[in-house]
Formats: sequence, C-alpha cells, structure tokens
Amino acid sequence: MSELCAALHHLFNKLERFTFPFEVSKIPRNGIYILFEAEEQAHDVDRIVRIGTHIGDNQLRSRLQQHFIKENKDRSIFRKNIGRAILNRAGDPFLEQWNWDLTTRKARETYGHLVDRYKQEEVERQVTACIQEHFSFVVFEVAEKPQRLNLERKIISTVSWCAVCRPSANWLGLHSPKSKIRQSGLWQVNELYKRPLSEGEFSELKRLAYKAGAASKATLAATHLSSQPLGHPGY
Ligand SMILES: [Zn+2]
Repeated sequence: MSELCAALHHLFNKLERFTFPFEVSKIPRNGIYILFEAEEQAHDVDRIVRIGTHIGDNQLRSRLQQHFIKENKDRSIFRKNIGRAILNRAGDPFLEQWNWDLTTRKARETYGHLVDRYKQEEVERQVTACIQEHFSFVVFEVAEKPQRLNLERKIISTVSWCAVCRPSANWLGLHSPKSKIRQSGLWQVNELYKRPLSEGEFSELKRLAYKAGAASKATLAATHLSSQPLGHPGY
C-alpha cells in the first residue's frame, strides 16, 4: 500500500497548488480537493493531510470557501477539528462549547444563549489564520457525484493504510481530542482503513488529473506505479 500511496503523493504534488488567497474561478465546480500542511512531509514530497469533496452538485468552490474563509465551524468539519486541536492543546475548557452544533433551530434554542459568542468568534479567527497560513491544496475535476464519493473514500483509505506516511512531531493534529485524527495523521475520522484504490481506479485518477490540465503531461507521465503487481491489500 505504501507504493500506491507514494504514487498518489507524487501525482498530487505535481498539480497546480493553491494557497490563500486563491482565485476561485480556477477551481472546478465539481471535484476532489487534497490538502497539504506546512512542515508535513512524506515520500519526499508534501504529505497529504486531508482529502475531501462535496455532496451537492457544483459545490466544490463553496466547500473550499467554507474551510478557508467562512467563519462557521458548524458548516465545516475541517474547521471544527482544527479548532478542537487548538483548544485541546491549550487546555481550554471552551472546547466543550466549540463541540456544540448550532446549525439547527432546536440546538440554537437549547444552547444558543449559553455560548460565549465573543470567545467563539475569537477561536473562529484563530482557525481561519491557521488554515490560511498553514494549508495549501490541489484540486481535480470529477463531474459525477458517485465517482467523486468513491474516489474520495478510496484515496482516504489508501493513505490511511500507508506505513510510511507519519505526521511530524509538531503536527497540530497530535493535539486533537479525536483518536482517529491522532492515529491516522489525517484530518479525517471517516473512511479510514477501508478498501483502497485499485490499480484501475488509480489509472482513472491519473486520467482526471491530465484532464484538469493543471499539470503538464510530461510531469504527470513520470508518475507511475512500478511494473510490480500491487498484491492483495490484505483486508
Ligand atoms: Zn504514504
């Protein structure tokens, strides 16, 4: 699995990298994003720290804006998890309130008056600063929802199975209260350690990366699995 993970890393590291502030018009409307984080390395390139997509059609741009710009933790599980790690690292008891999901009217009626709004806005700003300063991403277009969700799942699983990808000693995620984040080295709690990408799916991924036109064919062509069979992943 490490060989496939290495190939994924080298493929995604060759795509056009976006950092904040990014030009939204250059991002496809439907697709998958791969996040990288400063100081995190694996397979001699930047380490993948999160893989994500969107549910509704044409929502990739707004999904990335929900992560990088919109200060609402309840609309971005990624923001919520960054905030959890920051608060947990500081031993800040506001973590309990940060965990509340105030999306529904009922929740707002139950908890809304108890929330320290000033503190919440302060943490939202910290999360924004952390994400805008330390994270970058690549994207590739996947038009159809079933394929988007399938490839997202499989990429997450492939990277989670890798024995080589490890977070640095200073990785923020090591302060997460979520054991799945600490253990996987990824900012995710779902789709870990399941069925990885098949060789056919990896070929399809490469095709999608070519199609995106985000990297030259010459550089992408250099990203290939060796001719050795991958073997059964053993699950
Ligand atoms: Zn790996």
